[in-house]
Amino acid sequence: MPAAKFEIIRKCKICGEEFLAKTIDSWYCSKRCSRIAWKRKDDERKRNLKLDEIVKSIPKKQDYIKVTEAYALFGISRDTLYRLIHKGTISHINLGTKQIRVSKEELMKLYPLRRKALDKPKTVAKIYRMEEKDCYTIGEVSKKNKLDNSTVYLHIRKYSIPTRQIGNYVYVPKKEIDNLYKGMKI
Ligand SMILES: [Zn+2]
Repeated sequence: MPAAKFEIIRKCKICGEEFLAKTIDSWYCSKRCSRIAWKRKDDERKRNLKLDEIVKSIPKKQDYIKVTEAYALFGISRDTLYRLIHKGTISHINLGTKQIRVSKEELMKLYPLRRKALDKPKTVAKIYRMEEKDCYTIGEVSKKNKLDNSTVYLHIRKYSIPTRQIGNYVYVPKKEIDNLYKGMKI
C-alpha cells in the first residue's frame, strides 16, 4: 500500500500536465492554462452570438434556407448537410452555383436547434443531496477510488465535502465525490 495520497493529482484540461488540485473546482494547472480555457469559452460565446444574429435574420416563413443559415440554426456542418442532400434525406433546391437551399422544416424534424443543444440546464446554487440514495459511504468511496478510509477522510475535510452520519456509516454526496475524483490519476 503506497503512502496515503492526501493531495489530489489531476490532469490539466488544457495542457494535460499533472497538477495538485487546490480546490474541488480546479481543472487547470496554471494561470496560463486557466486563461486559455477562459479565452476558448469566450471565443465560443462570441461565435454563438454571431450565429444568433444569422438565425434572427432568417425570414420566419421561408422554408428553404442557405447552408450557412442551416449551420446557424442547427449547428450541423456543411459536410453533414451535403451528405444529407446527397442521400436524399432532405429536400433542396439549387438556385445556381453555390446557391443551394435546404428545407428548414425537414431539418427541424432531424435536429435539435443549436441553442437548445447548448442550453443544458446548469446547476446554479450548490445544493447537496444527502439522501441515502444520493450518497456513498466512506467505504464505498475508498473502494471505488482505490484509497484507504483515512485518505478519504482527509480529502473530505480538505475539500469541505459535507457528510452525514446514519447509524454506523458516514455518508457523502455522490455528486461531490464523483466531481472530486474525476480526472484523478489513480
Ligand atoms: Zn495546464
